[in-house]
Amino acid sequence: MIKCSAFRIQIVCPGCNSNHAVSGIVDFDTCQNCGKTINVRSVLQDRMFGFMDKVQYMNGFLSGSIEQMGGTGAYKLFYSSMPCSCEECNNVLETGLLLKAIEEGKPVICSACSHKMPVRKADAEIREFHPNAIGVINDSHGADFAEKDIDKDSMLVFKCMTCGAGLELTGDTKRTIKCHYCDNENYLPDNIWTKLHPNKEVQPLFVLLDLTEDDIKGSIEYFLRVTALSIYSKHFNNFIKEYFEKPFIDESLLIWVKHLLKAKNNEQVSFNMDITKIQKHFYDNLKLGIGSHAPELKETAAEYGIDIPADLQLMLAEDKDENVRLALVKNTNLKKDVIKKLQADRSEAVSKLAAKQKTGLFGKLFG
Ligand SMILES: [Zn+2]
Ligand SMILES: [Zn+2]
Ligand SMILES: [Zn+2]
Repeated sequence: MIKCSAFRIQIVCPGCNSNHAVSGIVDFDTCQNCGKTINVRSVLQDRMFGFMDKVQYMNGFLSGSIEQMGGTGAYKLFYSSMPCSCEECNNVLETGLLLKAIEEGKPVICSACSHKMPVRKADAEIREFHPNAIGVINDSHGADFAEKDIDKDSMLVFKCMTCGAGLELTGDTKRTIKCHYCDNENYLPDNIWTKLHPNKEVQPLFVLLDLTEDDIKGSIEYFLRVTALSIYSKHFNNFIKEYFEKPFIDESLLIWVKHLLKAKNNEQVSFNMDITKIQKHFYDNLKLGIGSHAPELKETAAEYGIDIPADLQLMLAEDKDENVRLALVKNTNLKKDVIKKLQADRSEAVSKLAAKQKTGLFGKLFG
């Protein structure tokens, strides 16, 4: 199943100290400002996530920023597990569309605004970045990068300071421009110069991964297993927040939710991540506007959550969608009153299954 990992990466250029926007999964890049070669590889491959396993991080649904300041190779990273979207209008791009573009080696065209983003099929460089990567959307080394829309109204007119003639400026104009009327040299003031060379925005790179359920489950287990990764619980919570602001449903997301809500804290590891706090954050968001969430999401939570708050159990037991109640009745960690409610459910399928759930200790042992 397909999962997206979106990056916005800047590396501080060792030549001029300006922030260089990384434009693709590459070993080396050239600084837009001073022309010096920047070793992107050492940041991307080795240091971007510090001591954390990059593959495990990308296999889960996490969002966050990491900034390493000072020294050579200082960088700034914004990461998100939200689906691939158009960099111009934020329209979410359908997975089928992305896979087709990768297969055909053509740029992907946004269905909402027609903006084109280059597509790069996974090659050795990309697979070294992540072994399950199948391609990168918006990588400047991808197919038909030249077709990418560039700012078309960057032409400016500057009045010669000696004779007042209008001089046309383009992105290629040098800082000192000679007037073709009076032959005098003009040095372009800062405000005009920066207009010609705007700070390049950091473009998002969308890495598409082809993962199995075990990959996704393994990512959650990894974070529970490794001491001192508790700081990344924030990245779990960031993603949950982003998700509920702009929900989407796909197979990999549902698998992640399933294993997130099933996970228990690892008692063997001290300073580990408190997964129950993250689960609570998820449930708190699910409770808000419960009627508007996708049934598939509620079904997953209802069936697999080991620690669903009592009030949310009741809400799910009252859900108008029969499939949600059917999923809930399969959960073996329900409160007594919730089971009783489900036993009296108007759907026979639900009440029959609920009748098999015993409410007492006796039922827990022998049911
Ligand atoms: Zn530079
Ligand atoms: Zn668009
Ligand atoms: Zn002039």
